[in-house]
Amino acid sequence: MALSAKMQSARVVAGRRVMATAPRMAGVVAPRFGASAVREVSAVAPRTTYRASRSSRVVVEAAKKSVGDLSKADLEGKRVLVRADLNVPLSKSGDGSISDDTRIRAAIPTLKYLMENGAKVLLTSHLGRPKGEDKAADKAKFSLAPVVGRLSELLGAPVTLVDDCIGAPVEEAVSKMSNGELVLLENVRFYKEEEKNDKEFSKKMAANADLYVNDAFGTAHRAHTSTEGVAQELSPAVAGFLLQKELDYLDGAVQQPKKPFVAIVGGSKVSTKITVIEALLDKADKIIIGGGMIFTFYVARGLTVGGSMVEEDKLELAKKLEAMAKEKGVELLLPVDVNVADKFDAEANNQIVDVDAIPEGWMGLDIGPKSIELFNAALADAKTVVWNGPMGVFEFPKFAAGTTGIANTLAELTPKGCITIIGGGDSVAAVEQAGVAEKMSHISTGGGASLELLEGKVLPGVAALNEK
Ligand code: AMP
Repeated sequence: MALSAKMQSARVVAGRRVMATAPRMAGVVAPRFGASAVREVSAVAPRTTYRASRSSRVVVEAAKKSVGDLSKADLEGKRVLVRADLNVPLSKSGDGSISDDTRIRAAIPTLKYLMENGAKVLLTSHLGRPKGEDKAADKAKFSLAPVVGRLSELLGAPVTLVDDCIGAPVEEAVSKMSNGELVLLENVRFYKEEEKNDKEFSKKMAANADLYVNDAFGTAHRAHTSTEGVAQELSPAVAGFLLQKELDYLDGAVQQPKKPFVAIVGGSKVSTKITVIEALLDKADKIIIGGGMIFTFYVARGLTVGGSMVEEDKLELAKKLEAMAKEKGVELLLPVDVNVADKFDAEANNQIVDVDAIPEGWMGLDIGPKSIELFNAALADAKTVVWNGPMGVFEFPKFAAGTTGIANTLAELTPKGCITIIGGGDSVAAVEQAGVAEKMSHISTGGGASLELLEGKVLPGVAALNEK
């Protein structure tokens, strides 16, 4: 499997490998609820209400008003501005073909619901990161044009791309629309005002619409015009089905978890997961730690870890987190054995050693079999599991067993009534690689946004929406 941009940007610091934190696009999956099923889940308040959903899963309702709360009478003939995340990866060949259409598919339930209920849908999104002062100069590269064909296919309806997202071109397009039609507005990030959440720009975006639906979970942690500002200008401003489902699971289930609640935190560096571990210490019964960050904990405990990655400046923090866990009565589990390599390479020589016996010059790239067993036992009675970050360098097959092992365990727990939530980013890629994505209760479509929700933060794009 190809390495992520982040892995390729890994650098070696003082003989130890440290990851540069280049942003990575989260792997995404389409919601497995159809529009009507989501509607059924979303339509009940308040947020603390548990109810059984399909497959006897239990979710907690979030308190935001959802598109499913809007009836035909609310929608027919109305101009609805929908913010979706159509930021799909395009083929490197430059022929404009889409290499993964998951984000388009994920937007369909909300769009279909609106169209079937007679709304005139104005769909807005970003694509990529147009740069510089004159962002529209990057038009050829970042146009949403490649999305039109697939979107139209999935909707089973024609889609027109409007060459702008504000002003006369939009006004003209809307004036020609019939009820139940959809137009796609050109990349909102062609305007620098978008990321500045500019008030005037918000007003211009809102000018052509009557109400607002935010279904872009992946950007809900950003206070931009199309995710936050415009919600202040239009009413009602509600969550789309995808956003609602993310809130049901990540916010709802984590704030009110069915116990025992086990959190699994992995990935490269402890520094990027401090806040989430701290927040989970207040909620979880057990926290399982894996990935590169374990070595910082070991060094803090006085062990030597060979050439494994260590954040020397986070040793005190690791000690503090262990002390906090003890104080709060949370069981913090670290691996007891590791799969070590003689170099950072897919073809490296490897051996399994106990954590207190890592040979000089070898680096830990995965957890070992005894640790998988230990973690499986800790997970056996879990009723809610949230997982963020792989157990090892799963991109190298030789070092994927720990991550795959956990993925398989969660897949077995789901049908036993455990709510299994994959919190975005590399863990999503890992469960997909393990072939068990379909077996999880929920796979988040947003890396940064899901981490922020798990950290207990309020997402601006969610806060701006109407309450039930
Ligand atoms: P994060 O974005 O922090 O969740 O980190 C994910 C990355 O951590 C993946 O690309 C993994 O390859 C990497 N990773 C996991 N375990 C280790 C390890 N023991 N040493 C180095 N990198 C690791």
